[in-house]
Amino acid sequence: MADTRRPEADRRVDRIETRPRFSEADAIRLNNLFRGSDTRDMLRAVIRDGLAGDLAVVSSFGAESAVLLHLVAEIDPALPVLFLDTQKHFPETLAYRDALVAMLGLTGLRVLTPDPAMLAKKDDKGLRWSWDPDGCCDIRKVVPLARAMTDFDATITGRKGFQSNTRAGLPRFEIDKTDHEGRLKINPLANWSAETIEAWFDSHGLPRHPLVARGYPSIGCAPCTSKVAKGEDPRSGRWKGWDKTECGIHVPGHDDGENNLPPGYDPAF
Ligand code: SF4
Repeated sequence: MADTRRPEADRRVDRIETRPRFSEADAIRLNNLFRGSDTRDMLRAVIRDGLAGDLAVVSSFGAESAVLLHLVAEIDPALPVLFLDTQKHFPETLAYRDALVAMLGLTGLRVLTPDPAMLAKKDDKGLRWSWDPDGCCDIRKVVPLARAMTDFDATITGRKGFQSNTRAGLPRFEIDKTDHEGRLKINPLANWSAETIEAWFDSHGLPRHPLVARGYPSIGCAPCTSKVAKGEDPRSGRWKGWDKTECGIHVPGHDDGENNLPPGYDPAF
C-alpha cells in the first residue's frame, strides 16, 4: 500500500495561526520607539514601512476626524477608511463624509452597515437605542466592525487623550481588547491638544463638521448626541443620561447570549 503521508514541510501549511498578532510587549516597544517623535513621522513609518501589518483607519467623520484623515491622505490616500453607517447618523455627517472624502482624495472608503436580518430581529422599530443603547451599538457598530476587521491587523483611530476623563493618558499604541486577536490600535493624535487640533484645521484649510458650530463638540448618532455647554467635557453630550461613555468598538460591549459575532471575535463582556 502506498504511503500517503505527506512530508513535514507540506503539512506545515495546514496549520492555522492562532496566536495574537501583537502582544502588550509589542505595544510598549512601539510606544518607546516613537516616544517624542513627530506624528507624521510615526504615521509614515507605520503606514509605509508596514510596522503594524494591514491597516485600516476607523473614522466617524465627526467633529475632529478631518485632521487624522488629512494626515493619512498625505501618506496614502488609498488606505482603507472604515465608516460605520449605523443608519442613525445626522444627515450632516453623511454629507460631511462625502465632502471630506472628495476633498482629501481618499479612495479606500468602506461603508459598513448593520446586517438587515439582525436589524429585523433585534431592532425592527429602530428604537433600541432608547432602551438598550449597548445592544443597539452592538448591532450597528460592534458586529459590523468586527466582521470587517478580519481583513486587518491594526486600526488607526482619531481618539485623543483630552476628549474625556476616560481617555486621559491614552497611549499611541495599545492592544485592541475587543477580542483576543491581538490587533493593534494606533492613536496618532493621543497627545494632541484641542488647540493643536484647531490650529491644524486652520493652517490646512480643513472644513468643519457643520454641527460643531451648532454646539456639538463630539458627534455620533443623532439620537445619542446632545449639545454640550461651554467648558463641559466634550464627550458629555454622548449618551446623555446613560452610564455609557463608549460605543463598544473601543471597549467591550455586552452579550445577549446569541452568537452574532464572527469567528475569533470573543469580547470580554
Ligand atoms: S450611538 Fe446610539 S443610535 Fe448609534 S448605534 Fe449606539 S445606541 Fe444606536
